[in-house]
Amino acid sequence: MGKVSIGMLGWRFDEAAILDDDGEFLPFEEMSPEDRKRIVRLGSIYNAPCNACWLIHGDADLEACNTAQYVYGEPLDEVILCEEHEPDFVYWFRREGGDEHRGTDGLEDAFFEWFADGGRAPEGYEGMEYVETDPEDLPEPPTVSPDDHPELTEEAIADSGVDLDPDYPS
Ligand SMILES: [Zn+2]
Repeated sequence: MGKVSIGMLGWRFDEAAILDDDGEFLPFEEMSPEDRKRIVRLGSIYNAPCNACWLIHGDADLEACNTAQYVYGEPLDEVILCEEHEPDFVYWFRREGGDEHRGTDGLEDAFFEWFADGGRAPEGYEGMEYVETDPEDLPEPPTVSPDDHPELTEEAIADSGVDLDPDYPS
């Protein structure tokens, strides 16, 4: 069993820790708190607009924003990016001091500030390389109904103080 991404590239999971033998999601109770928190969050951010596109176009022109296909950082403080802007984030993280914000709730704001200030990767800069071919082929995250799982609302999870080790560019 290997590592698997759900819905978006970036965050990765041990396949056996979140999926059963048929490839269906395990019940949330059977996932670790770390995995559960990220899976629940993915249900909310799946198909959301890219943060960088949004900084350019804003709410006034959401149609012009690409759908995000990559996610980095901690759930609720994550940065989500489209194909076009993923290299900008990776460049910032590796070369422009983004790594200092690893594991903190300042990652998102620090990247936004750099990007809004005109920060971009050099022409032709490659982001992370993924074995998975296309984010659109990834399994979709489950949707979580707060009625069925009041303990799994994002606030409840955010307050749970779970220690996370999400994936960052290396
Ligand atoms: Zn974008």
